[in-house]
Amino acid sequence: MRLFQRKPKRPLLPLRSLVVMPHTQAEVDVGRAGSKLAIERALSAEGQIFLATQKRPEVDFPGLDDLHPMGVLAEVRRVNRLPDGTFQVVVEAMGRARLLGLSGQDLLWAEYEDVPEPEIKDPELVRALVEKVRRAFGQYVASHKSLRLDRYQLEAIQGLADPARLADMVTHHATWTTEEKLAILSEVAIEARLERVLTLLARDLDRFDLDRKIAARVKEQMDKNQREYYLREQMKAIQKELGGGEDHLAEVEVLRERIQKKDFPDEVREKAERELDRYQRMQPGSPEASVVRTYLEWLLDLPWREATEDVIDLPRTREILDEDHYGLDEVKERILEFLAVRKLAGDEGAKGPILCLVGPPGVGKTSLGRSVARSMQRNFVRISLGGVRDEAEIRGHRRTYVGALPGKIIQGMKRAGSNNPVFLLDEVDKLASDWRGDPASALLEVLDPEQNKAFQDHYLEVPYDLSRVFFIVTANTLSTIPRPLLDRMEVIEIPGYTPLEKVKIARHFLWPKVSRRAGVEGKVQLEETALRRMVDEYTREAGVRGLERQLAKVARKFARRYLEAPWEGVYDVKPGDLESLLGAPKYRPDRAEKDPQVGVAQGLAWTGDGGALLTIEVLAVPGKGRLKLTGNLGSVMKESAEAALTYLRARADRYDLPPDFHEKWDLHVHIPEGAVPKDGPSAGVTLAVAIASALSGRPVRMDLAMSGEITLRGKVLPVGGIKEKLLAAFLSGVSRVLLPKENGPDLAELPPEVREGLEIVLVEDVIEVLDAALLPLAPEVRDARPAWRAGA
Ligand code: ADP
Repeated sequence: MRLFQRKPKRPLLPLRSLVVMPHTQAEVDVGRAGSKLAIERALSAEGQIFLATQKRPEVDFPGLDDLHPMGVLAEVRRVNRLPDGTFQVVVEAMGRARLLGLSGQDLLWAEYEDVPEPEIKDPELVRALVEKVRRAFGQYVASHKSLRLDRYQLEAIQGLADPARLADMVTHHATWTTEEKLAILSEVAIEARLERVLTLLARDLDRFDLDRKIAARVKEQMDKNQREYYLREQMKAIQKELGGGEDHLAEVEVLRERIQKKDFPDEVREKAERELDRYQRMQPGSPEASVVRTYLEWLLDLPWREATEDVIDLPRTREILDEDHYGLDEVKERILEFLAVRKLAGDEGAKGPILCLVGPPGVGKTSLGRSVARSMQRNFVRISLGGVRDEAEIRGHRRTYVGALPGKIIQGMKRAGSNNPVFLLDEVDKLASDWRGDPASALLEVLDPEQNKAFQDHYLEVPYDLSRVFFIVTANTLSTIPRPLLDRMEVIEIPGYTPLEKVKIARHFLWPKVSRRAGVEGKVQLEETALRRMVDEYTREAGVRGLERQLAKVARKFARRYLEAPWEGVYDVKPGDLESLLGAPKYRPDRAEKDPQVGVAQGLAWTGDGGALLTIEVLAVPGKGRLKLTGNLGSVMKESAEAALTYLRARADRYDLPPDFHEKWDLHVHIPEGAVPKDGPSAGVTLAVAIASALSGRPVRMDLAMSGEITLRGKVLPVGGIKEKLLAAFLSGVSRVLLPKENGPDLAELPPEVREGLEIVLVEDVIEVLDAALLPLAPEVRDARPAWRAGA
């Protein structure tokens, strides 16, 4: 019987990618002709159709093999025929059914069998699974972003008493793939079906959790960016409110670009970038900001890597030195030797001693430095160390000081514009030192090739490399240069010029220079005699600076005269013209023999300005044997006076001195020009002569000058500055000079003019000096003498 029973058939509605779970409602769009026939048929007959999901959605006319075997029977609840011919169909699914075969042409008939819900095999397990599925589905709905189920719907599903219905309903609502849903539809056993559902729910919950974490992290990052962006915008707004905000930012950008382009050492670049960041965050126009800004400008302006190319070509250097300077042969030779060593020894040569030019002002030390730079094609800078007493002047102040700046060295480097200039340090002998630190030791670091690779300026904070700089030092005298500095130097002395040399310098170098500057070049010329008169009567100096000034004055006068009344050819300046140009002469040449005088002697002094004639006056007055010294004398000079006095007491007889003069007479020693401090032992012999003259009444020859230290036993010891002193003696019209014998070798390099113009007597003992300087007593004095003696 059973064999002949006709298999049940229902019209087939193939679904492209939809899975309809049992006991759910679904809305299906139906467009295919066969499907529409199936719907019509269902409506006209019993109303049931078979829903089967296609294995591949793109197949238009599915056969049996194209359909998934597990499907559902469904009733058509509503059909909405749309104008385009498609049907919107609402179906309500009944139970599961398995597709067994297909028949028919256009309208397909599905042969099927019902698949009833099976028995529960393991109720315990099912209860536990149901519980888990309920909870998991609750969480699923809660954390699902696009699944919209209200609380009642959710509770209705969770409250389903039938575990099978629960599994199917959850599957219906979940946003799973067609395959996943089909797998559950195909799973008939209740336990297995619930497990599958639970697995998928758990998987999704994990995903949601991960998503949440990622989202949280993304949000955090976004919040941070947002915060910074917000703050920066706010700052901009504030700056704009306060004015200049946009200018500030534009300025920061300009600075940033300059920093990028500048050839910095790494350390300096990092520093600059850090400071720029700081600057950007600062209130524009505030004091702090301008401090940082100034600092950045310094970093940017300094030559860190910029260098000029060196040329050391000795013949060319010689030419340049000759072009710029008259005479100075020895000095020029020494400079050439110095450069030769530099050239041959390369970097090692740069570690040699520092060139130190010593001489009175205006002898061309600075301009020699300039010529050296010109000949090497290096840049030239000069700083003066005169009066520098604070280490900070060399090394700069820390930026925390108001108005802090780098020290003189770094300032010089900025002016130089290259990291290898010729750098002239003027007047090292005028360095002072006090409690503010020792500038000499800072200078020592500057000049020391071992240390100056990383010179520390307090303001800069980053080290600066000075090792490629060619330092030249100048001084007026060696005596006050700190010893450690002097040890590092190669000293070249320039003693000063004779009048003849000055005339030559004026004629060939100074006049062409100043007349060009005044625009009267080739229009005026000075006769040699006029120049000589200018040297003698309008200037008194070792160098030619004053002379240059006087010449410039003459040039200016002629510039004006020329504008007022131009002339043809060359105007010749004669000695007699000088009064109208420069006024009355300042110095009268007192070359005429001066009369011998009592109690006066002429010494020779050596100062930073060169040599000078030093007149010593002594007056003896009745008293108690006191010695008074005035004229701003130093302690060494006072001691010289004491020594001279004691010596004379021991020789009182020989020089007709009153034997008790140390009890009955007071002596006052004075050296005029009290404003100028005088010290040193070299006035010893002069003091002895002046004192002896004052006490004995014997006059002293005034065509004579002397210099020498004395000992208590009357020995004459050598003294310094011989060349300068002789030059001064020569210039002041003295004809004879007494000098210590041991200074003999110093006479070798005297200018011929001086050697010929002076009689130089070398002495060993004060007796020789006194004999040469003191004249016999005048007859009238001699006659008065017994009384003078008795009265004393
Ligand atoms: P210092 O530095 O020794 O004080 P400067 O170099 O300033 O002296 O010289 C002063 C002026 O005298 C400069 O114009 C310089 O060119 C000029 N001068 C000095 N000595 C000579 C010389 N021997 N020949 C030519 N000009 C000279």
